This record gives sequence, structure tokens and C-alpha cells, in this order.
Amino acid sequence: MNNTVGVLALQGAYQKHVESLSRLGVKARLIRQPAELSGCSGLIIPGGESTTISLLIQEYGFYEPIKAFAENCPVLGVCAGMIMMANEVDDARIVPLALMPFKALRNYYGRQVHSFNGEIILSFDSEPIKAPFIRAPGIEELSSDIEILATHNNEAVMIASGKHIALSFHPELIDDTRIHEYWLNRMY
Ligand code: GLN
Repeated sequence: MNNTVGVLALQGAYQKHVESLSRLGVKARLIRQPAELSGCSGLIIPGGESTTISLLIQEYGFYEPIKAFAENCPVLGVCAGMIMMANEVDDARIVPLALMPFKALRNYYGRQVHSFNGEIILSFDSEPIKAPFIRAPGIEELSSDIEILATHNNEAVMIASGKHIALSFHPELIDDTRIHEYWLNRMY
């Protein structure tokens, strides 16, 4: 199996994911055009500004190609990327990819000044993670086939549905690769 992971590089915090992947010995490819998805075995949609990412997904013709890719390959959506994974968003400017059955609430944890490092309890590891929430979205209306993988103050902050994972905090900004590792282990 080909182990190259694509990182959608239209806008936002994509570079740090490349570093997390390379620390785990995984090849990453920055994706700026739909054709570059071919040959990738997974895709990360990074954090950034979901209104901009949504617009650029439309403008560069990524909408259908990502949906088709996600039928066979796992997608990891982080923060704004998580918003793009939802099937509903509380902001009509965003056309979500609807890869997972939940509703995303933008800026649920407040504005930029309310950014914080939160202690996250993982379902798959006994050691919690301290990770940044940066204008992070909330998760609501979880359908019953969604698995909760991590919580912060008893609220879901990392969820899985089939092979896809969405999370509201930024695992690429910490010196801890457990989140990426978990996703990769689930995918291979
Ligand atoms: N608040 C941003 C949005 O709604 C997401 C922030 C982030 O990705 N760190 O798009």
C-alpha cells in the first residue's frame, strides 16, 4: 500500500502537519490541485479559516474529488478542517463536505483571545494530551454511529465515523504525535 498522506494546502496551518507526519516516518504531499490526490492513501484537512477553505474548495474544483476520495480513503479534519467534515454548519457561507454525521458550531470556544491549551482525555490512551484550542469549533448533534475518541470538560472534541476522524484542537502544534499516530494506525 502507498503510504503518502496528502495535506490540503489551500489555506491555513498545513505545514506543521507535514512535520508531524515526517516525525512518524510518513511521507506527506501538499495538495493544491485535485489531481494531486491520486496516489495518496489519506488526506488531512488542516485548520485555518473555514469560510476561506470552503470557498477555495469550490474555486479549485475540490468538492467532488474530495468526496470521491473519502469513499475509499480516510480523512482527518482539524479545527476548520473539522468544520468542513460536518454535514451541517451554523454558518451558511460554508458548504461542508458532509463526510461525517454531526453539526459543527464555529468559534464555540470563543474568539482568538480565548484560545487556550486544554487537557484532553483520550479514549485510546491513558495519558491525557494538552493541546491548543484556537477559535475552536464545537461538535453537536452527533449521530449514534459516531464514536467519541476524546473529550474536554466532558464535551466531545475528537470523533470518528468509519475511517474518518474530526477534531476541534490542533495536534500538529504540540510536540506529541499520538493523535496523528492513532489516525495512521486506524487507517493501515
Ligand atoms: N474559527 C475558525 C473557523 O471557524 C477555525 C479556527 C482554526 O482552524 N483554528 O473557521
